[in-house]
Amino acid sequence: DALIAEETRSFVARQPQSRAHRDRAAHLAGGATSNWQIAEPQAVWFSHGSGSKIYDVDGIEYADFHGGYGVSLAGHGHPAIVAAVQERVTRGTHFAQPTEDAIVVADNLAERFDQPLWRFANSGTEATMDAIHLMRAATGRDRILKVEGCYHGHHDSVEVSVLPEPDDDIGPPDRPHGVADNSGIPDAILDLVTIVPFNDLGAVERALAEHPDQVAGMILEPVMMNAGIIDPVDGYLAGLKELLHRHGALLTFDEVKTGLTVGPGGVTRLVGVTPDLVCLAKAIGGGVSTAAIGGTEEVMSLIADGRYEQVGTFNGNPLAMAAARAMLTEVLTPASYAHLDRLRDRMTVGLQDVIDRHDLPWRVVTAGAKGCVSFLPHPIRNFRDFLQLDGRYGQAHWLVQANRGAFLPPWGKVEQWLVSVQHTDEDIDRFVANCGHLASRLTAPAAR
Ligand code: PLP
Repeated sequence: DALIAEETRSFVARQPQSRAHRDRAAHLAGGATSNWQIAEPQAVWFSHGSGSKIYDVDGIEYADFHGGYGVSLAGHGHPAIVAAVQERVTRGTHFAQPTEDAIVVADNLAERFDQPLWRFANSGTEATMDAIHLMRAATGRDRILKVEGCYHGHHDSVEVSVLPEPDDDIGPPDRPHGVADNSGIPDAILDLVTIVPFNDLGAVERALAEHPDQVAGMILEPVMMNAGIIDPVDGYLAGLKELLHRHGALLTFDEVKTGLTVGPGGVTRLVGVTPDLVCLAKAIGGGVSTAAIGGTEEVMSLIADGRYEQVGTFNGNPLAMAAARAMLTEVLTPASYAHLDRLRDRMTVGLQDVIDRHDLPWRVVTAGAKGCVSFLPHPIRNFRDFLQLDGRYGQAHWLVQANRGAFLPPWGKVEQWLVSVQHTDEDIDRFVANCGHLASRLTAPAAR
C-alpha cells in the first residue's frame, strides 16, 4: 500500500495537462469517452503515437504496452497503414456499398481462420452480438452458454458474469450464478444465459442435459484474456465442439483479442479446432475500428439467403477495409510474426530472471504478442482461481511501469500487455527493468 501511495503521488504530479483536459471536458459524460478511461489516476490524455511509443499531453513518452486494449499490433503510424488510409481518404471513405478491399480481407481471413464465409461489423460487441443471433437463428433455440469471466462486449446477452462485484452472489465454482455486469440488462435476458466455468467439460455436459433442445450454442474466448491469460487445458476446445454438436448446438470462438495477436490464425489455428463461428475485431483494422464474423457454409448461409439479416451502415466501410487489407497483407507477414516471437522470448527470459533473482512465486504467461505477469503462485485454470489474485500487485506494477516510461492497460490485473511489430529490444528491456524495480521494492526488508 505504501508503494502504491508513493508511486501514485509521483504519477499524479507529472500529469498537470491531463488533469486540465479532464477539467475542461465538462460536456463529456464522466470526463472521458469510455467508462474504462475514467478510473484515477490512469485517466491519461494522449496527443500522439509513433512506432512503439505513445506521448501524453504532458509530453511524457511511454513504450506502449497497452496497445489500445489489444488493437495496436501494427504499432503507431505504420507506413503501410498510413499509405492505405491516406489513399482511401482521398478517394472517398463511405458509399454503403462494398469496395474491392473487402474481397481481399475476406479471402485473407478465410485462409487464416479456416472459415469459408465472412461478414464485417464495427466492434467486437457487434461481432459477438451477430454470432449469438446467428446461433439462435440457425438452431431455433434461445439459450446460450457463456463462460464465467469471459468478456464479449456490451450487449444484453453477454454482460453477464464478467467481473462480479465482491458482494455479488456468484454461486459455487462448478455452478456459477449468472450475475448482470451492468445496469440496464433485463432479467428476462439473463434467464436465457447459462454460466459455466472455463476448462470444465462436465459443467457443459450438465448444462446441456438440464436444458434439452434449448441451447443454441456456446460462446467463449478460447484463451481467456479478460482474466489475465488462462489457457484451455488439452482437449477442452475439441471436447466442447463434439459435445455441443452432439446436442445440436453450435460453438463460437470470440477471438476479438486473440485473433491475430497470438499467431497468424488465432487460437483456432494454434489448437486446430475450427468452431462454427469466429469473431474478430481490435487488431484486424490496424488501428481503424472494424470487426469480422467468419463461419461455416451451413451457418453463414442464413446471411447469404437473408434468413438472418446481418446489416449496418458502416459494415465493411472502405476506410476500415483499406486499413485491414494493409494490416493483413503487408504488416502481418511471417517476418513480423518471427519478430514478435523473438520479443516474446526476450521478455519471458528477462522477467523469469527477475522472478528467480528475487525468489518470487510469480509466473510469466504469454500467448504470442500478449502476455502478463501472474502474481499468483499457482497456475490459473479458471476464473475462480484468478479471483484470488490480490489486485494491489497489478496496481503497483502499472504505476511503477508508467512512472518509468512504459504504459500498461489499467491496473494490469485483468488485461495483458501487447507488443507490436514496431517494438524493439530496448522497449522490452525497459519493461523488464521496471519489473525488476517493482520486485526489489517489494522484497526490500522494509516492505516485508
Ligand atoms: N470480445 C472480447 C474478447 C473483448 O476483449 C472485447 C473487448 O475488450 C470485446 C469482445 C468487445 O469489443 P469492443 O470493445 O470492440 O466492442
